[in-house]
Amino acid sequence: MKRKRPQRPPTAWQSSAQWRMIGSAAIREWNAKRSNLPKCNAARKSDREPCRLIAMENGKCFIHGGRTPRGEEWHRTQWPDGKSPAAERKLRKKLAERERAARKRSTRLAAMSPDELERHRAWHAARTPGSAAARQRQRDERKQAAEIRAMLERPQPAPTGEGAELEEQIAALRAELEALGVDQQKSIGAFA
Ligand SMILES: [Zn+2]
Repeated sequence: MKRKRPQRPPTAWQSSAQWRMIGSAAIREWNAKRSNLPKCNAARKSDREPCRLIAMENGKCFIHGGRTPRGEEWHRTQWPDGKSPAAERKLRKKLAERERAARKRSTRLAAMSPDELERHRAWHAARTPGSAAARQRQRDERKQAAEIRAMLERPQPAPTGEGAELEEQIAALRAELEALGVDQQKSIGAFA
């Protein structure tokens, strides 16, 4: 048996002739304008044709990534507003979505070859959640670290002048330490 929908009380817009007129004028105005608004050009899953729903700020509709957050919240899960009456329902839905996505991901990962896994890991390492500025900073840090590593790996030039003197002193001190029978690795470790 089909359950009857509970009758809703009339809204303010339906309660008087004047309000109804204002409401229908607003709808007419919207309908006249909506055909000229920019449309989403994402390919629909069903037929790969352009989607044509009204585009949001980034040129995509609310289904095709228009609601994807930018800046600090890029690639971060958006939790529902706790004050909204629908918060609990939305939260449950979100958690179920995340679980489903995690299951799908682990199936995909399990089927990957080591090569594909490595590419997957590199792709995600290059797209950490958060702001573009933070990602740029991380890129800069990685670049600097690589430069330092390369510098350390380069053969060191023979010490000259003062440097050579210091080297000699260090060698002499090492020899003394050895003569005293002190374990060099241990003594160095103690100060490291
Ligand atoms: Zn779309």
